[in-house]
Amino acid sequence: MTIAAPEIRLHSNVEAFLASPKQNLIDGRWIDAASSKTFAVHDPATGDVIAHAAAGDAPDIAAAVAAARKAFDEGPWRRMTPSERGKIVWKIADLLEDHLEEFAQLESIDNGKPAAVARVADVPLAVDIFRYMAGWATKIEGATIPITVPYLPGARFHAYTLREPIGVVGQIIPWNFPLLMAAWKLAPALAAGCTVVLKPAEQTPLSALRLGEIMQEAGLPNGVVNVVTGFGETAGAALAAAPGVDKVAFTGSTEVGRIIVKAASHDLRKVSLELGGKSPNVIFKDADLDVAIPGAANAIFFNHGQCCCAGSRLYVEKDIFDDVISGVAEEAKKIKLGHGMADDSGMGPLVSEEQLNRVCGYIEEGKASGAKAVVGGARKGDRGYFVEPTIFTNIKQDMKIVQEEIFGPVVTAAPFDSLDEITPVANDSVYGLAAGVWTRDVARAHRFAAELRAGTVWVNCYNVFDAAMPFGGYKQSGWGREMGHEVLELYTETKSVCVNIS
Ligand code: NAP
Ligand code: MG
Repeated sequence: MTIAAPEIRLHSNVEAFLASPKQNLIDGRWIDAASSKTFAVHDPATGDVIAHAAAGDAPDIAAAVAAARKAFDEGPWRRMTPSERGKIVWKIADLLEDHLEEFAQLESIDNGKPAAVARVADVPLAVDIFRYMAGWATKIEGATIPITVPYLPGARFHAYTLREPIGVVGQIIPWNFPLLMAAWKLAPALAAGCTVVLKPAEQTPLSALRLGEIMQEAGLPNGVVNVVTGFGETAGAALAAAPGVDKVAFTGSTEVGRIIVKAASHDLRKVSLELGGKSPNVIFKDADLDVAIPGAANAIFFNHGQCCCAGSRLYVEKDIFDDVISGVAEEAKKIKLGHGMADDSGMGPLVSEEQLNRVCGYIEEGKASGAKAVVGGARKGDRGYFVEPTIFTNIKQDMKIVQEEIFGPVVTAAPFDSLDEITPVANDSVYGLAAGVWTRDVARAHRFAAELRAGTVWVNCYNVFDAAMPFGGYKQSGWGREMGHEVLELYTETKSVCVNIS
């Protein structure tokens, strides 16, 4: 059965945007790739080509980095008052909000996610991080430090620290939340006074380009944000290695994270990484199952499982295992797969044919290794990249489907006996991005939260994000934290100033 594409009615601004040429934003101007090459952008629900984007490569990255360098070294951005900078960042939030519907639609046709989800999650969260970071522009402070120098008796000093922007930042982002990942990266960098070259994922370049237009409209000086679309192996690799970049901020696979670190090691530029996950979601028998069951389904099926923090390893206390699994299976069956622009779609397609093959490969591998798909377990339809929400039971902890990030709507489920037994199992992963705990026992919740080696622990909830709450990974899930005031560490340098006042 093929999933029918609805008659899609797009916002007139989206139609106009799609019809316009997709060029790179370099030094405030929209220009073709130096090679004049483009690549096709697809609607993953149909496979149809919806646009062509500039295939940026090393020369385009070099031009963008030069523009960002000039804007940082000579331009007004770093020198304007924090209040003026904050106002521009706030204006970006306002404009984004004014165009919320357009962005929701763009995300849907580019990434596949339901527009209904992008309307309430992706776009409002992106608006929020720009507002939150606009406020920080005026609050990035150093400290005064009383010092005593033993070998200079009697000397007096006035010592203080300055927090300064780190400089030119190369930002490389993935396709799972194209606009939101751009916002998480751009907002703090701008608040800190940095300049940026942003490379969106080849699968989903559209919302970053539209955001580029909006940032220009908000009054961002030329060269402060440059957007270069293209492939990871060409444009991305050039950005990670470009001389003139002070810091690289990356979100994506752990495998590419390693490549970024190697590229940056040459001249030891700073790197922050937000990488993969294989997050445990643990339900104890005293949990409120009316909340925990839909919560466990949301933890894995939200965004079609294409979340770095997806609750992809479900562990349920033995006495309630069967009830919980049949409950989550019922939730899975209720999800209607369809085009993201159809109002009744609960889940769209995966982002690309490559991801479809990858996820289906894991599903086949799981079956072959003896796991049982109690629901789902197959591609849906033969057009677009739809995969059924899938729950595997009968698993062993060392199976590939339990250890590796699938990045699709596939969860493995296993029973456990006690807190002591489940703690090492929950932590048995090379990743450490997030975890979920469901219990009514407050002491157990906090004790378990403290034992988990994960950057975020959700108790009786999952996938709760706020611009003020830091997010990032332990172990191979990354370096550094995004959001909250902690993210400003990634975009500032601390300078100690010591003045002899003897
Ligand atoms: P990816 O290759 O890591 O892509 C992330 C970003 O890195 C994209 O902009 C990509 O560009 C770029 N890139 C790729 N190779 C590069 C290189 N050699 N140098 C510099 N930049 C490079 O992720 P993917 O291929 O889209 O997905 C593969 C797997 O990664 C997924 O199945 C999932 O497990 C994981 N993933 C994790 C996250 C997360 O949020 N943690 C997000 C996405 C994917 P192009 O897209 O243009 O190649
Ligand atoms: Mg890739």
